[in-house]
Amino acid sequence: MNASSATRSVMTRSARHRRPWRTRTALAITAALACVPAVTVPAHAFGPGTHTKITESALGGFQKKSLEAMAAGDLGDDEWGAIRGSDKGDYYPKQTRYHCDDADYLKVSGYPRSRQQATDELLACIQTSVEEFHKAVVAAGELVDSKGHINTKEVGLDHRCKYNDSPGRAKCTVFEHLGRAWHAIEDFYSHSNWTDQKVPEKDISVTNPPGLQKTTPAPFFTLRAYSNQSTATWEAEARKEIGKVPDVATGCAGGEYEHGSKDLNNCNRRINHYDDADGKGGLSKEGSRAKIDHNGDNAEKVATEDIKRQWQDFQDELLARYSNGHGKKMICTLTHDAPTDATCK
Ligand SMILES: [Zn+2]
Repeated sequence: MNASSATRSVMTRSARHRRPWRTRTALAITAALACVPAVTVPAHAFGPGTHTKITESALGGFQKKSLEAMAAGDLGDDEWGAIRGSDKGDYYPKQTRYHCDDADYLKVSGYPRSRQQATDELLACIQTSVEEFHKAVVAAGELVDSKGHINTKEVGLDHRCKYNDSPGRAKCTVFEHLGRAWHAIEDFYSHSNWTDQKVPEKDISVTNPPGLQKTTPAPFFTLRAYSNQSTATWEAEARKEIGKVPDVATGCAGGEYEHGSKDLNNCNRRINHYDDADGKGGLSKEGSRAKIDHNGDNAEKVATEDIKRQWQDFQDELLARYSNGHGKKMICTLTHDAPTDATCK
């Protein structure tokens, strides 16, 4: 990498992380600020606040402030909804674990990565979601006391949740963990070929990987089931499911960190996450790939369906784990802005 491309990589990386599913407008601004060459952004690329749109669409029955605490994009004053938490701080550059990147593989001779390496990267992302799901379930235990009364100080939203890994109100903690679990899942659909059309152009290559044409959520994000199994058990199950789709891939995010690595990624000759300087070839629906057929729309649709599933599974886990009506009350404290024992029966 020469000096100018190294500079471009660093500058675009810092810009892109602020708004990973970005807009034409945002890109124009960040491109101007970051001195990058003009990059074509398709009209149907994942737009502003796509994480917000997906999460809001998936969550039924939430009152206004609670929905904002979970799903908002940028609230100003260095505040955001939980779904954006992985776009902040130390979570930015951990592309594999928190953004489901770097699970790239193509069945061609001499591809720099093996299928197993790609699967291991995907498993690391799934693991993040499973662990965060479990933490959210545990944190929910503080929403209601042992007698089934709402812990009022743990559920108020008179001031906004701060998602900074520090102990806070239980409701905020539950949202923070769910946000991290769900962000990675939403990213999987944006960053992978799961819902893409079969072959975008003519020949399969690293800049033209095959699409899997899936119309339903991926079976290897069954967080509720996995969180109740040993790591070895769920990993074996997930590995089996991934084995059924040997062409599944997410793009290599250049200049970022893979799972367990302290070295920056080298994405040469690999399927990339980002488009090249000509605005082509990246797998992510942040870029040109979104406009091929309806790839962007399809990814958004299935991501929304998956988060609906995840929210239902989370509620089911609370109902199963916390008996005597406590689980039901916990769900009410999460969806209501000012829950009380009288309004959450
Ligand atoms: Zn992300």
